[in-house]
Order: sequence, then C-alpha cells, then structure tokens
Amino acid sequence: MASAVGDVWVFVETTRGATSGERESVLSRNGASEGAGLRPAEVSLELLGQARELAARLGARVGAVVAGGEAARALAPALVAAGADTVYLAVHDLLNEYLAQPYTRIVTEAVRHFQPQIVLYGATTTGRDLAPRVASALRTGLTADCTDLRIGDHEVKGVAYHDLLYQIRPAFGGNIVATIVSPEHRPQMATVREGVFRLPLPDPSRSGDIVELNVERVAGPHTGRNGKPTSAGGPIVLDDLDFVTTLVRRTRQEKSVDLKGARVIVAGGIGVGSRTGFDLLRDLANTLGGVVGASRAAVDAGWIGREHQVGQTGTTVRPKLYIAVGISGSIQHRAGMDQSARILAINSDPGAPIFAVAHYGIVGDLHEVVPRLITAYREKR
Ligand code: FAD
Repeated sequence: MASAVGDVWVFVETTRGATSGERESVLSRNGASEGAGLRPAEVSLELLGQARELAARLGARVGAVVAGGEAARALAPALVAAGADTVYLAVHDLLNEYLAQPYTRIVTEAVRHFQPQIVLYGATTTGRDLAPRVASALRTGLTADCTDLRIGDHEVKGVAYHDLLYQIRPAFGGNIVATIVSPEHRPQMATVREGVFRLPLPDPSRSGDIVELNVERVAGPHTGRNGKPTSAGGPIVLDDLDFVTTLVRRTRQEKSVDLKGARVIVAGGIGVGSRTGFDLLRDLANTLGGVVGASRAAVDAGWIGREHQVGQTGTTVRPKLYIAVGISGSIQHRAGMDQSARILAINSDPGAPIFAVAHYGIVGDLHEVVPRLITAYREKR
C-alpha cells in the first residue's frame, strides 16, 4: 500500500519569559528568545528537530503551525532555523492567548486543507488540551506522552503499511514499552514530553516559506463551510461558538527549579530518609552549582516538591552530571535521566539497578559519602 505523502507538522506553542543556562544560549542563537518577549516553547523546537529527522526518512517537508497575535510573526525565522521548511502562520488579535476552541478550529482546518501525514504536539498543558480536540475533530488517532518517534513498516492481516509513524511510549505502569501505529487514519498524531528530544542547534542559513492562514471572526454562529485557509483562498472562520470561553486573567508562576536547564542535578530518593535529609543534597548541589531533583517516592513521601521529580511522570533531564543519591533506579526513574552525559550513583545496595546506567558508582551510606564529596569539592575549588 502506498504511503500518504504529506508534511511532518509541529504545532508550535508560544511562551513568554526567560529560560536559563545552556538552553537559553541555544535559544538566543536561534533568535528564539527575542521578539516582544514571545518565544517558541522549547518542546516545540525539540519537536522541529525530530520532525526534520522523520521528514528526511519520508522524503517530506517540515511544517510549523503557529497561532497568535501580531508578535507571533517574529517567530518565523527561529522556526525555520530550528528545522521548519514552511511556517503556517495564523495571526489575529483574538489569538493572543491560547484558547481551546479557536486554536482547535485553526489547527483542524489547516490540517484538513494541507493534509500533513504527521502532526506533533508538546505534551504540555496546552498540547494535552489541544491535540485530543484536533484528533476528535479529524477522527484520527493520538498517542499521548511518547518517549520516542520513528518511521517504520507494519503488517496487519496480510496488508503491508509502509513508512508509518512509530509512536513509542511506556505502557502498563512503565513495565513495557509499546509501539503504537495508526495505519489507516491521517494525520498520525502524537504528543511528546519536554526534554525527550534534543534542542536542535539553529541553522541560520536555512530558508523557508511562510504561509499566512487567513483568519476571520464573524458574529453569531457561522453556518457556511470553512474555506481554504490560505491568503489566496477563503478564511478560517471563527464564530461565537469558538469564543464561549473568555480568558479573564492570566497569572504566571515562575518555576521554583529549572531541572531541564541545569548542568548538574543532585537527585535524592527514599534512601535520603527524611525531608531534612534533602538539606545535605542541597548542600552538595550548591557546592557544584547544580539543582536538586528527586524520585517520585521521595516526592510522594512529602520530602520535596513535585516540580523536583525526575522520571516518566516528572521531568526528563539531560544534565552534564546527574548524581543519584539513595535512588534504586526504577525503570520509571531511569526513563527521565538515563540520557544524562555522566551519571554518578551513590547507593548502599551494590545490586541497585541504578548502577546499570551509571558511569560511576559509590557503594556506601549516603550520609557518609555525600559529606565527604562536599568536603572534597570545596577543597578542590
Ligand atoms: P526505592 O526504590 O525504595 O529505592 C531507595 C534506594 O535507596 C534503594 O536502592 C536503597 O538501597 C537506597 N538506600 C537506602 N538507604 C540508603 C543509604 N543510607 N545510603 C545510600 N542508599 C540508600 N518514579 C520516579 O522516580 N519518577 C517517575 O517519574 C515515576 N513515575 C512513575 C509512573 C508510574 C506509572 C509508576 C507506576 C511509577 C512511577 N515511579 C516513578 C515510581 C517508581 O516505580 C519507583 O517506585 C520509584 O522511582 C522509587 O523511588 P526510589 O528509588 O527513591 O525508592
């Protein structure tokens, strides 16, 4: 069976405010941290990087679909530098802030018209809200929280399908890794968590097209069909039904810890023993210029906030150095940290699974090992 030919699209989420550390410098080189304080979400840039690889396998092009107010126009160069061949731009004052219905309408109509074969979303609050609505409107499938995406073939009941999107994610409590395909329906859609794919290095020499999606707001319910959403064709019509929800106020809560941007993470688990036990880890993290992470068990014990959790249901991290202290190394924890450049595990149990992914291991009581590490690092400075 011939594969559908279409672009690989990424829905680009926008955000305001700064990032930190190394990722900030990649974003600035991308031109992505500039321009009216609006920038593409890091996960969207990560997905554009991965979309390039998928599109290369498929002989397809990469599309970035972005909606917003006037400031969104300034994002196009960064999206092209990150990997987009075409930026589909829906600009309207009413799109300044994310609202489920109008954004669903825009992405749905754009997909109907341009027929990409794959659409990817960040598994963020916005992506998790938008992607199922678009999937439902288009009567297609959606795999949430993928940890990998590849292209491959599949055969079912003697029918061969080529160049499908393998939507790979942990299933059954993380005990198996499932590969999910959508052989019959298009587009194939997936959400992917932040940090799963690397932030692509921007290539300012890349060039791309901008396709302006013509958006029109009409009063009352719109009875006619939505037309072709290009500037050449008819508009995407937003009517009263798309604005049954009004955004009254938006408040921003700054993250108390930036795990993704950290070069060094000192993460603690149940072995740390108590809330005050984490003070020792903070001490080591401060000495190394790092931040504190945690296993879910330590978070569930109430010893540290959920924003510190690393793993399948926490944050996916890739620091230069990850120090796992009193963490056994469950599959769900490893899913969020095993791509770290260097891993040091400190555990009293020599058989702890964390040692299987660690580059360096210290078998011992953390209450003895960590103070000695702190002293050693301080003396070295
Ligand atoms: P334990 O497994 O109890 O390990 C504690 C370790 O500390 C042991 O290896 C022990 O030898 C060591 N230790 C004890 N005392 C000392 C000492 N004095 N010095 C040195 N070492 C010591 N977990 C996550 O972390 N992140 C996730 O995102 C996540 N998502 C999950 C999602 C699902 C759907 C499910 C089902 C589970 C998830 N979990 C997650 C939980 C996961 O399965 C484990 O229960 C959890 O990771 C265990 O945490 P831990 O390593 O701190 O505790």
